[in-house]
Amino acid sequence: MTTVAAKTFDSLNPATDEVVGTHPVHSAEEVEAAVERARGAALWWAGLGFAGRAERLRRWKGVLTRRSAQLAEVVHAETGKPHGDAMLEIILAIDHTEWAARNARKVLGQHRRSSGLLMANQAATVEYQPLGVVGVIGPWNYPVFTPMGSIAYALAAGNAVVFKPSEYTPGVGRWLADSFAEAVPEQPVFQLVTGFGETGAALCRAGVAKIAFTGSPGTGKKIMAACAETLTPVLIEAGGKDALLVDADADLEAAADAAVWGGISNAGQTCVGIERVYVHERVYDEFVAKVVAKATAIRPGFDDDAAIGPITMPSQVDIIRRHIADAIKRGGRALVGGTDDARYVQPTVLVDVPEDAEAVREETFGPTLTIAKVATMDEAIDKANNSKYGLGGSVFSRSQGLDLARRLRTGMVAVNSVISFAGVPSLPFGGVGDSGFGRIHGPEGLREFGRPKAITRQRFRAPLVLTTFARTKKVDAQVAKLITLLHGKRR
Ligand code: NAD
Repeated sequence: MTTVAAKTFDSLNPATDEVVGTHPVHSAEEVEAAVERARGAALWWAGLGFAGRAERLRRWKGVLTRRSAQLAEVVHAETGKPHGDAMLEIILAIDHTEWAARNARKVLGQHRRSSGLLMANQAATVEYQPLGVVGVIGPWNYPVFTPMGSIAYALAAGNAVVFKPSEYTPGVGRWLADSFAEAVPEQPVFQLVTGFGETGAALCRAGVAKIAFTGSPGTGKKIMAACAETLTPVLIEAGGKDALLVDADADLEAAADAAVWGGISNAGQTCVGIERVYVHERVYDEFVAKVVAKATAIRPGFDDDAAIGPITMPSQVDIIRRHIADAIKRGGRALVGGTDDARYVQPTVLVDVPEDAEAVREETFGPTLTIAKVATMDEAIDKANNSKYGLGGSVFSRSQGLDLARRLRTGMVAVNSVISFAGVPSLPFGGVGDSGFGRIHGPEGLREFGRPKAITRQRFRAPLVLTTFARTKKVDAQVAKLITLLHGKRR
């Protein structure tokens, strides 16, 4: 943004409370001006075609790759996550950007469709045209990987983007927009607006062609309500309460490792993080012992050797504490863990927690796991599916992994691993229920940011012309005969 905002806000390091950066609180007028500028840029960007855009996206990808350590430092400072974890999300985002650039033409370019017998004289094609200006509203927990799942794909599809990052990670947003402007200096194809919820709400009302939102289901509902005023379509990537299922024949060492990493990495602040584990009774004790041993070894902190960082959003610490306290009050036991520090939550493993406790039903978004014993894998599926969320999930089983994966009511499942679907750029990412709708990543993610355009081109005059007032009774009779022949058979 070139205009000077009247108000500013600071982003803070969650481990030290030091100011990382100061950013404008953009007003509704400033957001509208950004969207207006983006409209012109969108036309230029669309006019470059797939090859011109791919070349520029690759230029940007090069900048991201060469300066990834610098970007990781900003992520580390604003979220508190370890530098290595920040690098991991940047690497995944780079890989997704390359995939979107490489595959946009194949997925969105002109495709022939069969025109059918009645319209055999027509050549039928479909192509996905850019929507125009896409608004992206992002969260703080993966401030590079998550919004880039919308930004890179929307850009590859030929749209301009106005991005509103979380108020906790505006510096990461600034870094992304500045690096794009270095790679593509000609037009404001990718702009940043910063601020709180009001700035995001203004983006919903600024006349964008679509809003791609990632954040909590509560905010998702507000965004849908704001977008409803102007029939602006929305894509909602919201929260989750993902389950990991452990079958009696599972590789327990691998399953325990996956449960601990899936639940505790990034201090549990992962939309597709594992929060619940259902384990077959035959292997329950052995599995729990392995998880406890692994979780005990994880140390939170902000130094170079810490495995997880602080809780990024201070208000979340109270929610995590409440879930743990409620679980214990209702008969649960914490085998490891605790929340005695104001910023850090120790990895916490809870067992014997009733299924209707908050720790099992609500998104905790902390380094906690509930582990429950089940008599059969049918019971595991029923309990895992008994959730208003349905984002991802994980299944460990040697004999029936795929079958169990299909039966989970979620958008994504990893069999014998955890969260791996997020790293496969060709796979769609998204959920059901309170986890949202629409998909980022993969061909589905590219199509979210295109308008399917159907075109028929007449190749020759049809023997039976139907769409004219000059149509005769004879033609009607011939058509009736033809249709009876084609579709009228008794079966
Ligand atoms: P949040 O809902 O508090 O905020 C998300 C974004 O929405 C922020 O940029 C915020 O400023 C903006 N916002 C807030 N109120 C708004 C309003 N009224 N109108 C428009 N914009 C508004 O979420 P968060 O705390 O930043 O992120 C954590 C949540 O995100 C968790 O629930 C997590 O599961 C979810 N998440 C989901 C995915 C996914 O892909 N499904 C990925 C990452 C995070």
